[in-house]
Amino acid sequence: MTKIFPEDLAARLATRAVHAGQRPDPTSGAIMPPIYQTSTYAQEALGVNKGYEYARGKNPTREALERNVAALETAQHGIAFSSGMGCLNSLMMLFKSGDHIVIGANVYGGTFRLFDKLLQHFGLQFTWVDMRDTQRIADAMRKNTVAVMLETPTNPLMQLADIKAAAGIAKKAGALTIVDNTFATPIFQQPLALGADIVWHSSTKYLNGHSDLIGGIAVMNDDALAAKVQFIANSAGAVPGPMDAWLTLRGTKTLALRMRQHDINGRDVADWLAKRMGEERVFYPGLASHPQHELAKRQMSGFGGMVSVETGSKANANTVVTRLKVFTLAESLGGVESLVCQPAGMTHASVEPARRAEIGITDGLLRFSCGVEDTQDLLEDLEQAFKGL
Ligand SMILES: *Cc1c(COP(=O)(O)O)cnc(C)c1O
Repeated sequence: MTKIFPEDLAARLATRAVHAGQRPDPTSGAIMPPIYQTSTYAQEALGVNKGYEYARGKNPTREALERNVAALETAQHGIAFSSGMGCLNSLMMLFKSGDHIVIGANVYGGTFRLFDKLLQHFGLQFTWVDMRDTQRIADAMRKNTVAVMLETPTNPLMQLADIKAAAGIAKKAGALTIVDNTFATPIFQQPLALGADIVWHSSTKYLNGHSDLIGGIAVMNDDALAAKVQFIANSAGAVPGPMDAWLTLRGTKTLALRMRQHDINGRDVADWLAKRMGEERVFYPGLASHPQHELAKRQMSGFGGMVSVETGSKANANTVVTRLKVFTLAESLGGVESLVCQPAGMTHASVEPARRAEIGITDGLLRFSCGVEDTQDLLEDLEQAFKGL
């Protein structure tokens, strides 16, 4: 568990992104934090050391990243992991057999797979609810409910959950509110300020932003809770290497800058698709036609670069993805380059077809991760790809 430098919170987000958690190296003045590529640390005498013993527990490069992202989320503590899934799996070790968790029906496919295919066998109970309707969260609460887990906006349907309302329900029941903030990032959404207890990320996506590593991170305010998560991280060992921590830290420096362009491109691509395909087929919280646009404006300060569209059929979807040139057909999102994917066959393939149909992930649905390229090039790429559709 790494505590932030409290003075970092005095700055605004774009400044925190560049500076928080890092100070010039005291031995050389190096402006960038060194990559401490080491597994262990020399100790001066029995029981005497500089606070570092073995690198599964602590590494200074990792600590700089943990402080940086914690400061961005306006949190006291950060704990980095080797992947988003490693982070989530570690967070679930806060709980025990017989505990009950309320979670959104439309979440990242890997989250569904971890819970439904693995953790269920260890006695954790899950209730999957439509998080758009706060009343359903209240109705799903049981005596043994330990957590309410939100992903907002959701992947790939861009549905929102009211974080403040959900956290209120969880708090009353003595349960934790845990938010996957991967899509919005702290630049556009600050769940802790709305009552969440833990915010986590796949830092593979926007935080790192360059599609060159896999990582995860959790941040929180409560000291005791952070100590527990740190104990799990050290005991279970899903920690990142120093090189990946350093690369992620290089990524977060430009997070505010990148999110601004992702947001511009997301809005313009959503507008173009809405005009071309009809607004009822486009899923983007920034569109006035989005059923939860008012909530989006209330709890988000930007809408980001993720846009989904219903093309009507798998054949249409395939036509579009094979014609696109600037958008590359690939899983993942949040990098500087634009990507397109078909969730039903790619990111959400582990969700059974019947369940996919139920939540609206059809074979014709395409998800765009708008990068930071020139907006006009993205629109022209779409123009030629949708021709005749
Ligand atoms: C990618 C992703 C994850 C999983 O993270 P990994 O780094 O791939 O393990 C979790 N949640 C969301 C919203 C994601 O997009």
